[in-house]
Amino acid sequence: MNQTKYIFITGGVVSSLGKGLTAAALGTLLENRGLQISIQKFDPYLNVDPGTMSPFQHGEVYVLDDGAETDLDLGHYERFTDTKLTRYNNLTSGQVYKSVLEKERKGEYLGKTVQVIPHVTDMIKERIHRLAEITKADVIITEIGGTTGDIEGLPFLEAIREFALEVGYNNAIFVHVTYVPFIKAAGELKTKPTQQSVAKLREIGIAPHLLVCRTEKPLGKELREKISMFCNVPYKAVIEEKDVDHSIYEVPLMLQRENMDTLICDLLHLEVPAADMTAWQEIIRKLIAPQHCVRIGVVGKYVGLNDAYKSVYEAIIHGGVANDCGVEIEKVDAEDIDLQNPEKTLKGLAGILVPGGFGERGTEGKIIAAKYARENHIPYLGLCLGMQIATIEFARHVLGLEQAHSMEFDANTPHPVIWLMEEQKDVEHKGGTMRLGAQDCHLREGSLALELYGSKIVKERHRHRFEFNNQYREQFEQAGLAISGTTSGNELVEMVEIKKHPFYIACQFHPEFQSKPNHPHPLFSGFIEACMQDPAKVHPQSNPESKV
Ligand code: GLN
Repeated sequence: MNQTKYIFITGGVVSSLGKGLTAAALGTLLENRGLQISIQKFDPYLNVDPGTMSPFQHGEVYVLDDGAETDLDLGHYERFTDTKLTRYNNLTSGQVYKSVLEKERKGEYLGKTVQVIPHVTDMIKERIHRLAEITKADVIITEIGGTTGDIEGLPFLEAIREFALEVGYNNAIFVHVTYVPFIKAAGELKTKPTQQSVAKLREIGIAPHLLVCRTEKPLGKELREKISMFCNVPYKAVIEEKDVDHSIYEVPLMLQRENMDTLICDLLHLEVPAADMTAWQEIIRKLIAPQHCVRIGVVGKYVGLNDAYKSVYEAIIHGGVANDCGVEIEKVDAEDIDLQNPEKTLKGLAGILVPGGFGERGTEGKIIAAKYARENHIPYLGLCLGMQIATIEFARHVLGLEQAHSMEFDANTPHPVIWLMEEQKDVEHKGGTMRLGAQDCHLREGSLALELYGSKIVKERHRHRFEFNNQYREQFEQAGLAISGTTSGNELVEMVEIKKHPFYIACQFHPEFQSKPNHPHPLFSGFIEACMQDPAKVHPQSNPESKV
């Protein structure tokens, strides 16, 4: 087997620089050069995984096929590349310490004093090796979360320093993503923060091979020379990564123009052809200059935070790409919906989407939004909680079960149309205890779901505790809410739809986690296509909201 190559990506100056995107975009380029890659994220916090964190703290929790609840950067990795990720692609300090402490309790350290160096760092290094073994990838890209200088991140940095030394600098390189701010008062870009961040890295023994400079304005020759000189990297290794104009999917092309992938392949002695990005360029064209544009309302409770519904927003954009249609995403706070007069907020929307969520806040607004979509024949797509909301709405306003609810929000409702499964009732432990990961869903003959997917059995990712209550199945079906997808033995309802409606479909799973710009998810493509059917709501101008 060929020697695996390793690329370590660190971040400096400030957080939110888009290290995850940079890692993902580099993955796109390397894959298009014919390399098999895998991308891994290290998170320095002490939670075992982000599953227990509020979206306000951490943004969306991204779920993998194997049920791992992971950092949202893994969503970028999957959207930008074809690699399938598993729980080994996300490592937190919490997991590292948990493993070290379990080992200590078993007496496996044989009486030694257990320390950050070497025991914690060894555990981290082991995880990099393990990923290489499992994936057999040619290149492993490892993104280290946090910012250089954080106390929390030090064990990870020490571990990658040791790792690179051990495998040799022909096989491992360091890429530092940094910030070059534009100071308005001076009218200039400033390199000092970058210099200091690199100095900080060198203090702990890491000398970056490449610097990816995030900037609002072009760096220019002089500034590149300055950065090169003071940060001790060759001129051509100063990579400019300017804010994108339209879409995050432009980043791979931008990095290719900067020859980043060529430089990396040279450093790692990878002899592979140049990346063919023709197909990717066509996607960008559709994103930048689509033929049409529609406005989609996402009705949720975390709308103030761009990261909370990251994959949903991206999947909507992909659905647009599939139809050569730009999408303007209107983020509607469910609590702002006037329950008596929802039209005030929802009028003019070409489609309404209710995404996943937990907790009661905003529930009534979402129910009214679903009702508005159903009654006004506006395309509706419900995801996870969005399916539960559609079910409650239908029960209340069509079946006449006025007090119908989910047991999550009203434990004593006389009509628990959404309820807790037996096996979930005794769960006390938090984290990893929901119905998680990819499971088969069987689609019914004659359903819209089957028409969209074009395949009778599909695999979709789950993350929820509550389920559609089977006792009400018949009542719903008779009144027109068809069950269009179930688990393989028909035990659980996975999808519902309304036949007498242009497009009203909802699923208990999260299709947004499997959508990519080059493989838009069929539910999202179908949704956008349906949204384009009302000519009054299709605008000629383009306004892709792809930076969300
Ligand atoms: N809160 C709901 C449940 O647990 C829905 C979860 C979700 O939307 N991810 O079942």
